[in-house]
Amino acid sequence: MADDDFTAALGTVIRPGDPDWDVARRFHSGIGEPALIARASSTDDVRAAVGFAAAEGLPVMVRGGGHSAWGTVPGGLTLDLSALADVSVDGTRVRVGGGAQWGAVARTLAAHGLGISSGDTASVGVGGLTLGGGIGLMVRAWGLACDQLVGVQLVTADARIVEATDETEPELMWALRGGGGNFGVVTRFDFEAHPLEGVVAVELGVEGDPRAVIRAMRDVMARAPRELTLTYMDVPPMDPSAPAGASISGVWAGADEARAREALASLLAAPGVVERSLGARPYPEVLLEAPEFDPESPMPGFVGGNTLLRELDDDAVEHLASFREANPASILFLRSLGGAFADVAQDASAFPGRDATWFAMAAAFDMPGVLSEEARRRALSEWNAIEALGSGVYGNFTTSTDPGWATRMYPAVTMARLGAVKRRWDPANVFSRNHNVLPA
Ligand SMILES: Cc1cc2nc3c(=O)[nH]c(=O)nc-3n(C[C@H](O)[C@H](O)[C@H](O)COP(=O)(O)OP(=O)(O)OC[C@H]3O[C@@H](n4cnc5c(N)ncnc54)[C@H](O)[C@@H]3O)c2cc1C
Repeated sequence: MADDDFTAALGTVIRPGDPDWDVARRFHSGIGEPALIARASSTDDVRAAVGFAAAEGLPVMVRGGGHSAWGTVPGGLTLDLSALADVSVDGTRVRVGGGAQWGAVARTLAAHGLGISSGDTASVGVGGLTLGGGIGLMVRAWGLACDQLVGVQLVTADARIVEATDETEPELMWALRGGGGNFGVVTRFDFEAHPLEGVVAVELGVEGDPRAVIRAMRDVMARAPRELTLTYMDVPPMDPSAPAGASISGVWAGADEARAREALASLLAAPGVVERSLGARPYPEVLLEAPEFDPESPMPGFVGGNTLLRELDDDAVEHLASFREANPASILFLRSLGGAFADVAQDASAFPGRDATWFAMAAAFDMPGVLSEEARRRALSEWNAIEALGSGVYGNFTTSTDPGWATRMYPAVTMARLGAVKRRWDPANVFSRNHNVLPA
């Protein structure tokens, strides 16, 4: 078949020199350099693109929401799923296209009185977030995004269409819940959603020494009903993702403000905590808008990382607060886990660290003139001490594409099981632009 006949079957094809080439090859944190972008608008387009890449020997990047660091595939094929974004609702069963974004899903579900716990940002893709796990604003109420997944339609590396559920393909489903985009192109995600009239959104300011506030937040969460999920965040003025300074935000899954206040009472009364706003809102309004990628100010590198902490004990609080203080241009995030997240047994999904009660992320901005060589060494050694306190790392919250990450993310037993699933579904490692699991 001539090249043009072949590409005619791929959906919309965008090539270098086309008017929208420069926009189409952008992703959240950079500009890709593929040879070709195939924007699929049907499962058949996806099959054709996977077949085309195999026939031409092109490396493939599957793009869902484009928020990961995997957006570049130099000389390869970007398989852009953004046009596969339908969301349909049947009772509590929700079918979502493989390239949909969470903001659109939340808006459709809200009109049906339903919700799914997703991430915190509207433009993040359902694809990457779910396949990597998905720590969301209601993770304690309903678990990870992948815990709400009940089935998929998948295009395999050899361009077949597979409909999978826990009954028909249990090992594949196990791997898709945390194992990333290693096993095929998910063209449709099926979720079981939850009745949701709205949420109580919580915004608290943090003043003074953060240690006492973090400890108070930890103690509140140790007793809190699972409807409540809190996030602590401290960012410098140079970070466009949030207002500068320390704050606590949270979501109560449900519209009952009195119950949310009762659960938060001792935190609201703690010294250094200031109530900024607390009240019922539609869930879609709580999701954040991520700033557009600006080629003039690309994302900096980071020294630091993330870890799943079994316990946010006083030692961990001290390490994390000191890291933030020692590095003026740094961020600190803490997200509460437990609740429904912990209901899932460790071996029931590929996601690591189900025994964690907190997720922690701390990172210093690694920019010329901001971090000296000595400060970089110090930040790295401080971070290593923090990571040693945790029971695993979360791959979705890293901007690193280092091949060593997959080994750090998964315990050996999980990695061996993922390798066996990979061998069955993608033995030639066609889908490698991810925290890559090798066929074993
Ligand atoms: C601003 C921002 C906010 C974030 N907030 C959260 C948060 O609250 N919680 C959280 O857990 N994470 C969060 N993340 C991290 C996020 O989960 C990851 O970056 C995730 O990979 C993004 O998915 P995507 O589809 O947008 O990215 P993409 O770059 O499109 O894809 C990421 C990976 O998934 C694969 N993939 C995507 N879609 C499919 C598909 N349909 N089939 C097969 N493979 C696919 C890709 O090949 C790639 O390997 C955030 C990231 C950003 C930038």
